[in-house]
Amino acid sequence: MSTYNPYENVQAVIKSEAEKLELSENDYISFLYPERELKVNLPVKMDNGTIKVFEGYRVQHSSIRGACKGGIRFHPQVDDNEVRALATWMTFKCAVAGIPYGGAKGGIKVDPVALSKGELERLTRKFTTAIASFIGPQKDIPAPDVNTNGEIMGWLMDTYSTLAGQNSPEVVTGKPIEIGGSLGRTEATGRGVMIATREILKTQGKQIAGAKVIVQGMGNVGSISAKLLSEAGAVIVGVSDVSGGIYNSNGLDMTDILKHTGGKKPLKDYKGKDIKFITNKESLESDCDVLVPHALENQINGENAQKIKAKLIVEGANGPTTVEADKILEKRGIVVVPDILANAGGVVVSYFEWVQNLQSFYWSLEEVNTRLNQTMTSAFENVYQTQAKYKTSLRTAAYMVAIKKLADAQRIRGV
Ligand code: GLU
Repeated sequence: MSTYNPYENVQAVIKSEAEKLELSENDYISFLYPERELKVNLPVKMDNGTIKVFEGYRVQHSSIRGACKGGIRFHPQVDDNEVRALATWMTFKCAVAGIPYGGAKGGIKVDPVALSKGELERLTRKFTTAIASFIGPQKDIPAPDVNTNGEIMGWLMDTYSTLAGQNSPEVVTGKPIEIGGSLGRTEATGRGVMIATREILKTQGKQIAGAKVIVQGMGNVGSISAKLLSEAGAVIVGVSDVSGGIYNSNGLDMTDILKHTGGKKPLKDYKGKDIKFITNKESLESDCDVLVPHALENQINGENAQKIKAKLIVEGANGPTTVEADKILEKRGIVVVPDILANAGGVVVSYFEWVQNLQSFYWSLEEVNTRLNQTMTSAFENVYQTQAKYKTSLRTAAYMVAIKKLADAQRIRGV
C-alpha cells in the first residue's frame, strides 16, 4: 500500500507555488485548509432486508470567491483526505476558469456497481438528507464526479426540493435536461479537454488532427474526451478502463469501441481487429504524442514518470500526477496541461446550468458551446502567458493565476 496522501500533495503544491509568487504566508495560509467538513454515516436498507452503513463526506474548501462548488463521487477509495484534496482543487479550478465559485467535493465510500438501482437511489437520497442543511443554491452546489451521473443528480435535486418545500433545481448541476439540466453539460468536461489539447498543440505549431492519443479511463468523462478528440481528427492509439487496455499504433476504431463500452462492457472483452491487449499501467507508458489520464489520482507517480513516452499530458482527471512525478516530467521536457485548467470544462458548464436555473431561461447548445470555448481559451491564454512570463511550468502558472485571485478576494473581504 502506498502512503500517498492527495491532500498533503495539494498542500505542498500550494505552498511551493505561493513561494514562487513571493506571497507571504498570510496570503495563502487559509487556502491550505478546508473551511468546513461534514462526515456522515448512512444506514441504507439493502434489497435483501439487511441494513448496511456507508460513509459519506462533504468538504467545503473555500467560499471566498463565491458559493462552494464541486462533484460527488461514489468509489471504494473515497476517504477524508481524498475529498479534502478534491475540494481544494475545485477552488483553484474555479479561480483559473474565472467563474464565481469556491470549491467543495463530496463522496461516498461505496462500489456502486455492487448495488442495485433501488439501493443506489436509497443511498443517494439518504446522503442528500444528511447533507441538506450543509448545501444550498447560494452555499454549496454539488455535481457529478466519478461514478455519478445525471440520474443521481436528479434524485439529489428531488430529495432536496422535498425538504426545502419548493422546487430547487439550482442546488445541483449535471441534472437531466428534463428537470433543468443544461444542454452540453454531459459532454462539457470532455469538450474542455479537447479545447485544452487543441490550444496547447497550437502553441507548438501542431494540431489535433493526426496526433496520436492515449486515453486512460473510459468512464462518463474519459469516453467523451476520446470521442471528441477522435472527431477532431486525433488518432486514438490506446484506451483503457479498470479491466485493462487496448492499443494499436495505427489507431483504434473509436466508434466501435464506444458502442462496446456504452453497453457497460469492460474493454478486456472487446473483440476488435488488430488490437493488442495491454494493462492499465502499460496504457500510461505506451507510445503516443498525447496522454490523457482520465482515471483517479496518483496514476503518474515516481515509479512510472521516467517511463512515460508521451510528449504532452493533458490531465482529464483530478490529481493524476504526483509532485514527485511532476518534477521528473518537467526535467524530461514533457509538457503537462494541469487538471485545474484542462478539466475545467465540466464546472464551467455547471456554472452555465446554475445561471440558467436561477434565471429560468434556457440556452441553445450552440450558445453553451460557444461560451465554453471562450471561457476555456481565455483561461488557457491567461495560464500560458503567465508561464511564459515567469518561465515556469503550466501547473505552476495555473496555481499562480488562481492564488492571486484568491489572495486578492481574501484581502478585499478581510479575514
Ligand atoms: N466533478 C467535476 C470536476 O471535478 C465537475 C464539478 C462541478 O461541475 O461542480 O470538475
